[in-house]
Amino acid sequence: MTWLIYNIYFPVILLAGKIFRIAPDKTELYLIKLNNRLRGQEKGKAGKILILTPRCLQNKDCRNNVVEDVTNCLKCGKCKVKDLLALSEKYQIKLAVATGGRLARQVLAETRADTVIAVACEKELASGIIDTYPVVVHAVLNQRPFGQCVNTDVKIEEVEQIIQGILK
Ligand code: SF4
Repeated sequence: MTWLIYNIYFPVILLAGKIFRIAPDKTELYLIKLNNRLRGQEKGKAGKILILTPRCLQNKDCRNNVVEDVTNCLKCGKCKVKDLLALSEKYQIKLAVATGGRLARQVLAETRADTVIAVACEKELASGIIDTYPVVVHAVLNQRPFGQCVNTDVKIEEVEQIIQGILK
């Protein structure tokens, strides 16, 4: 049943949205919410969980290469990479910063995580949820106080709540 939802129903919803010219954000958000309802109760082990966040969460002036290795973050506090790193250390789960969908999928394959807490915009989350099935994705919508793809933000409490729910 879940296979049908992720492989047929979700792509059809996105396609129908395009055909009927519904704002992409609306169909993507519907899909994200439905995914989170379906996946919300799934449990996992710390070693198999990956927090995945886009590069735009990093402060745009920061020169530390957190994409190559997130521990290059000096924890200055100018962006939420510091806080996600703190969560990853606290719960002993992996954290990666990716520059795009392709790198995100590569990181996922390398880490062999079966549960992802994905932070991104509607478009990236919706496509990631479909593309990575059967991996369990807990989708967290980012905040964009400065517009698309620059100095984005995330509610750390929301991410921590998800981690606690998965590990319960
Ligand atoms: S918290 Fe880390 S990634 Fe963010 S600006 Fe500071 S050093 Fe750079």
